[in-house]
Amino acid sequence: MAGLGFPEGELDGVEIDRSTDHARVPDEFQRLWAPHRMTYIVEGQDPDPTACPFCRGPELPDEHSLIVARGTYAFVVMNLYPYNSGHLLVCPYRHIATYDEADDEEILEIGHLTQTAMRVLGAQAHVEGFNIGMNQGRVAGAGIAGHLHQHIVPRWALDSNFFPIIAKTKAIPVLMGDLREWIADHWPDAD
Ligand SMILES: [Zn+2]
Repeated sequence: MAGLGFPEGELDGVEIDRSTDHARVPDEFQRLWAPHRMTYIVEGQDPDPTACPFCRGPELPDEHSLIVARGTYAFVVMNLYPYNSGHLLVCPYRHIATYDEADDEEILEIGHLTQTAMRVLGAQAHVEGFNIGMNQGRVAGAGIAGHLHQHIVPRWALDSNFFPIIAKTKAIPVLMGDLREWIADHWPDAD
Protein backbone atom coordinates (compact mmCIF):
# COMPACT_ATOMS: atom_id res chain seq x y z
CA MET A 1 0.00 0.00 0.00
CA ALA A 2 3.02 2.24 -0.30
CA GLY A 3 2.14 5.66 -1.64
CA LEU A 4 -1.45 5.72 -0.36
CA GLY A 5 -0.51 7.93 2.54
CA PHE A 6 -1.47 5.57 5.35
CA PRO A 7 1.19 3.77 7.29
CA GLU A 8 0.59 0.13 8.04
CA GLY A 9 2.09 -2.69 10.03
CA GLU A 10 3.12 -1.07 13.26
CA LEU A 11 3.06 2.60 14.14
CA ASP A 12 4.29 4.00 17.44
CA GLY A 13 4.19 0.51 18.86
CA VAL A 14 0.53 0.02 17.94
CA GLU A 15 -0.37 -2.94 15.81
CA ILE A 16 -2.29 -1.73 12.77
CA ASP A 17 -5.23 -3.76 11.60
CA ARG A 18 -6.15 -2.21 8.30
CA SER A 19 -9.62 -3.68 8.16
CA THR A 20 -10.86 -1.76 11.19
CA ASP A 21 -8.70 1.29 11.19
CA HIS A 22 -11.00 3.92 9.79
CA ALA A 23 -14.29 5.39 10.78
CA ARG A 24 -16.70 4.61 8.03
CA VAL A 25 -20.36 4.91 7.40
CA PRO A 26 -21.16 3.12 4.16
CA ASP A 27 -24.14 4.43 2.29
CA GLU A 28 -25.80 4.27 -1.06
CA PHE A 29 -25.58 7.93 -1.95
CA GLN A 30 -23.78 9.21 -4.97
CA ARG A 31 -20.74 11.07 -3.76
CA LEU A 32 -19.99 14.58 -4.75
CA TRP A 33 -16.29 13.96 -4.53
CA ALA A 34 -14.60 10.76 -3.53
CA PRO A 35 -11.03 10.25 -4.65
CA HIS A 36 -10.29 8.35 -1.44
CA ARG A 37 -12.30 5.50 -2.93
CA MET A 38 -8.91 4.34 -4.15
CA THR A 39 -8.14 3.39 -0.58
CA TYR A 40 -10.85 0.82 -0.28
CA ILE A 41 -10.78 -0.27 -3.86
CA VAL A 42 -7.29 -1.46 -3.03
CA GLU A 43 -8.09 -2.76 0.46
CA GLY A 44 -11.61 -4.05 0.03
CA GLN A 45 -14.63 -2.94 2.02
CA ASP A 46 -15.08 -3.96 5.60
CA PRO A 47 -13.52 -7.40 5.63
CA ASP A 48 -14.61 -7.76 9.23
CA PRO A 49 -18.19 -6.47 9.47
CA THR A 50 -18.40 -7.24 13.18
CA ALA A 51 -15.63 -4.86 14.19
CA CYS A 52 -16.66 -1.39 15.37
CA PRO A 53 -14.45 1.22 13.68
CA PHE A 54 -15.45 3.90 16.21
CA CYS A 55 -14.18 1.77 19.09
CA ARG A 56 -11.05 0.77 17.22
CA GLY A 57 -10.09 4.21 15.92
CA PRO A 58 -9.20 5.86 19.24
CA GLU A 59 -6.79 3.02 20.00
CA LEU A 60 -4.68 4.03 17.00
CA PRO A 61 -2.47 7.03 16.30
CA ASP A 62 -4.46 9.96 14.92
CA GLU A 63 -2.69 10.00 11.58
CA HIS A 64 -3.71 6.43 11.04
CA SER A 65 -7.25 6.44 12.41
CA LEU A 66 -7.87 9.83 10.73
CA ILE A 67 -8.90 11.32 14.07
CA VAL A 68 -8.89 15.11 13.94
CA ALA A 69 -9.41 15.96 17.61
CA ARG A 70 -9.90 14.10 20.89
CA GLY A 71 -12.01 15.32 23.77
CA THR A 72 -12.60 13.72 27.14
CA TYR A 73 -15.85 11.93 26.22
CA ALA A 74 -15.96 12.20 22.42
CA PHE A 75 -13.71 12.58 19.41
CA VAL A 76 -13.81 13.88 15.85
CA VAL A 77 -12.76 11.72 12.93
CA MET A 78 -12.76 11.95 9.14
CA ASN A 79 -15.41 9.80 7.49
CA LEU A 80 -13.60 7.45 5.15
CA TYR A 81 -16.70 7.49 2.93
CA PRO A 82 -17.39 11.24 2.75
CA TYR A 83 -20.42 12.80 1.15
CA ASN A 84 -18.25 15.83 0.53
CA SER A 85 -14.65 16.76 1.23
CA GLY A 86 -14.07 17.52 4.90
CA HIS A 87 -16.95 15.29 6.06
CA LEU A 88 -16.39 14.73 9.80
CA LEU A 89 -17.98 12.45 12.38
CA VAL A 90 -18.29 13.25 16.08
CA CYS A 91 -18.53 10.11 18.22
CA PRO A 92 -18.59 9.32 21.91
CA TYR A 93 -15.86 6.93 23.01
CA ARG A 94 -18.54 4.77 24.59
CA HIS A 95 -20.14 2.17 22.35
CA ILE A 96 -23.72 3.39 22.59
CA ALA A 97 -26.17 3.16 19.72
CA THR A 98 -28.52 6.09 20.06
CA TYR A 99 -28.52 9.68 21.22
CA ASP A 100 -30.90 9.04 24.10
CA GLU A 101 -28.28 6.75 25.63
CA ALA A 102 -25.69 9.54 25.75
CA ASP A 103 -25.12 11.09 29.16
CA ASP A 104 -24.85 14.80 29.88
CA GLU A 105 -21.06 14.98 29.50
CA GLU A 106 -21.20 13.24 26.14
CA ILE A 107 -24.04 15.42 24.86
CA LEU A 108 -22.21 18.58 25.91
CA GLU A 109 -18.90 17.59 24.39
CA ILE A 110 -20.43 16.31 21.16
CA GLY A 111 -22.08 19.74 20.92
CA HIS A 112 -18.86 21.64 21.61
CA LEU A 113 -16.85 19.54 19.16
CA THR A 114 -19.52 20.12 16.52
CA GLN A 115 -19.31 23.87 17.08
CA THR A 116 -15.52 23.81 16.86
CA ALA A 117 -15.63 21.81 13.64
CA MET A 118 -18.01 24.35 12.13
CA ARG A 119 -15.75 27.23 13.17
CA VAL A 120 -12.58 25.60 11.85
CA LEU A 121 -14.11 24.68 8.51
CA GLY A 122 -16.06 27.91 8.24
CA ALA A 123 -13.12 30.17 8.98
CA GLN A 124 -10.38 28.28 7.21
CA ALA A 125 -12.10 26.54 4.33
CA HIS A 126 -14.77 29.13 3.56
CA VAL A 127 -17.57 26.67 4.04
CA GLU A 128 -20.91 28.22 3.10
CA GLY A 129 -23.22 25.78 4.88
CA PHE A 130 -23.40 22.47 6.73
CA ASN A 131 -25.52 19.38 6.91
CA ILE A 132 -25.38 18.14 10.49
CA GLY A 133 -27.24 15.17 11.83
CA MET A 134 -27.48 11.66 13.17
CA ASN A 135 -29.07 8.66 11.54
CA GLN A 136 -30.51 6.59 14.37
CA GLY A 137 -30.86 2.92 13.56
CA ARG A 138 -30.14 1.03 10.39
CA VAL A 139 -33.66 1.60 9.08
CA ALA A 140 -32.93 5.33 9.23
CA GLY A 141 -29.74 4.99 7.25
CA ALA A 142 -27.09 4.51 9.92
CA GLY A 143 -24.21 2.61 8.34
CA ILE A 144 -22.65 1.79 11.72
CA ALA A 145 -25.85 1.50 13.72
CA GLY A 146 -24.24 0.24 16.93
CA HIS A 147 -22.09 3.28 17.69
CA LEU A 148 -23.52 6.79 17.80
CA HIS A 149 -21.97 9.26 15.38
CA GLN A 150 -22.95 12.74 14.28
CA HIS A 151 -22.23 13.76 10.70
CA ILE A 152 -20.84 17.17 9.87
CA VAL A 153 -20.88 17.69 6.12
CA PRO A 154 -19.49 20.99 4.86
CA ARG A 155 -21.23 22.49 1.87
CA TRP A 156 -20.24 25.01 -0.75
CA ALA A 157 -22.50 26.59 -3.32
CA LEU A 158 -20.98 24.54 -6.09
CA ASP A 159 -19.57 21.80 -3.88
CA SER A 160 -16.40 22.00 -5.86
CA ASN A 161 -13.10 20.82 -4.46
CA PHE A 162 -11.82 23.02 -1.74
CA PHE A 163 -8.51 22.79 0.08
CA PRO A 164 -7.00 23.97 -3.21
CA ILE A 165 -3.50 24.11 -1.78
CA ILE A 166 -3.64 20.41 -1.10
CA ALA A 167 -5.74 19.40 -4.06
CA LYS A 168 -3.45 21.00 -6.59
CA THR A 169 -0.24 19.67 -5.24
CA LYS A 170 -0.92 16.13 -4.04
CA ALA A 171 -1.81 12.89 -5.70
CA ILE A 172 -5.45 12.00 -5.15
CA PRO A 173 -5.03 8.90 -2.94
CA VAL A 174 -3.21 10.78 -0.19
CA LEU A 175 -5.87 13.44 0.20
CA MET A 176 -7.63 11.89 3.20
CA GLY A 177 -4.47 11.89 5.26
CA ASP A 178 -3.63 15.41 4.21
CA LEU A 179 -7.13 16.67 4.93
CA ARG A 180 -6.95 15.17 8.40
CA GLU A 181 -3.65 16.90 9.06
CA TRP A 182 -4.96 20.19 7.72
CA ILE A 183 -8.04 20.16 9.95
CA ALA A 184 -6.08 18.96 12.98
CA ASP A 185 -3.52 21.73 12.46
CA HIS A 186 -6.29 24.33 12.49
CA TRP A 187 -8.13 22.82 15.46
CA PRO A 188 -7.82 25.08 18.52
CA ASP A 189 -6.07 23.60 21.55
CA ALA A 190 -8.31 22.67 24.43
CA ASP A 191 -8.11 25.06 27.37
ZN1 LIG B 1 -18.14 1.08 19.02
